[in-house]
Amino acid sequence: MSLDAETLAQFLDTLDRFVKERLIPNEEKIAEDDAISPELVQEIRDMGLFGLSIPEEYGGIGLTMAEEVQAAFVLGQTSPAFRSLVGTNNGIGSQGIIIDGTAEQKATYLPRLATGELIASFALTEPEAGSDAGSLRTSARKDGDHYILNGTKRYITNAPRAGLFTVFARTDPSSKTSAGVTAFLVEAGTPGLSLGPIDRKMGQKGSHTCDVILEDCRVPASAIIGGPAREGLGFKTAMKVLDRGRLHISAVCTGAAERLIRDSLRYAIERKQFGEPIVEKQLIQAMLADSRTEAFAARCMIEETARRKDAGQNVSTEAACCKMYASEMVGRVADRAVQIHGGAGYIADYGIERFYRDVRLFRIYEGTTQIQQLVIARGMIKEAAL
Ligand SMILES: Cc1cc2nc3c(=O)[nH]c(=O)nc-3n(C[C@H](O)[C@H](O)[C@H](O)COP(=O)(O)OP(=O)(O)OC[C@H]3O[C@@H](n4cnc5c(N)ncnc54)[C@H](O)[C@@H]3O)c2cc1C
Repeated sequence: MSLDAETLAQFLDTLDRFVKERLIPNEEKIAEDDAISPELVQEIRDMGLFGLSIPEEYGGIGLTMAEEVQAAFVLGQTSPAFRSLVGTNNGIGSQGIIIDGTAEQKATYLPRLATGELIASFALTEPEAGSDAGSLRTSARKDGDHYILNGTKRYITNAPRAGLFTVFARTDPSSKTSAGVTAFLVEAGTPGLSLGPIDRKMGQKGSHTCDVILEDCRVPASAIIGGPAREGLGFKTAMKVLDRGRLHISAVCTGAAERLIRDSLRYAIERKQFGEPIVEKQLIQAMLADSRTEAFAARCMIEETARRKDAGQNVSTEAACCKMYASEMVGRVADRAVQIHGGAGYIADYGIERFYRDVRLFRIYEGTTQIQQLVIARGMIKEAAL
């Protein structure tokens, strides 16, 4: 359901103030502690940020895709760790249930996901199956009206806090591809489910990933997303979820780029060399202009793709275009931001090097740039055949 223009504007304005007054001032502390304080997590819950994309009937805000990307542009203006905290509940952790879940699964999980009382993780990647996720090896062997899950999932965002995991496992051992993969909802605490140690990452401190290990983990057939009839259709659910997630991530990248451009411009205006502010130097202006142009291009393509998605069009190709362009773009913008800041860009006190490290992840997860290229090219070939 779409919010009326005034309500949306008010929400975005409140979110913008929250980002500026509460999140940005805490960025450095979160990076140092590698943790978001429980008080701040509570404030984020109170803002309703865990339920941005969860329908209102389940206690969320129920933003459309076009509205959600506006919120993500704002959230992207601060450390990606904050976005990551709420990201799985809004995206990959809840969308499978929203899109393909049974009425009972929706009623059981969505209200608690919307408030952030329950954190959801999306467990697709494995040690031997990353880009080629369809080749995953985690098995789900049928045992009466239950399944026995065995396997390891790798780099799972928010797994250390999660109360619910969407686990993708192979129910058809005769298939080696995405056919025969099923999506299960597995609650934390289920015997046989355990976690590995927290991964030590390059950036995005305060957001945590780890392995999810399944050893003879027994779940009922009713834990299949959409119920037993959707056995073998889990990969289809995963792909639908990724379309939305890619647009969301693209908007976060664009928000981060806009923040870096603002910080770079301010620094260039204040910093003097050769007797004048460096912003007067045309080579600095060129970097600023390139960054501004690219961030603007990303914003336009994301807004247009989100509108088309809300209109019911298939936007798989365009969402991949957005993810590839915006994640590569923010990498270039972050690199120029370091350059504009000179030595200060490399020193931790200014936070620019932190963003430079943080945004590097966007080119890797939810499909690497190379995988987006493949998705785009396949979409083009399909269109040509029509
Ligand atoms: C911090 C973090 C959080 C993550 N969160 C989650 C999560 O919550 N849930 C989840 O399921 N996963 C998650 N992931 C996993 C992430 O989605 C994968 O790391 C990513 O898809 C790449 O897989 P891989 O690491 O196995 O790399 P690989 O697939 O081994 O790729 C290595 C390189 O080969 C390239 N490559 C691979 N195949 C091709 C091809 N066909 N053509 C050209 N180039 C190719 C890739 O682009 C890349 O450059 C996370 C990862 C990280 C680092």
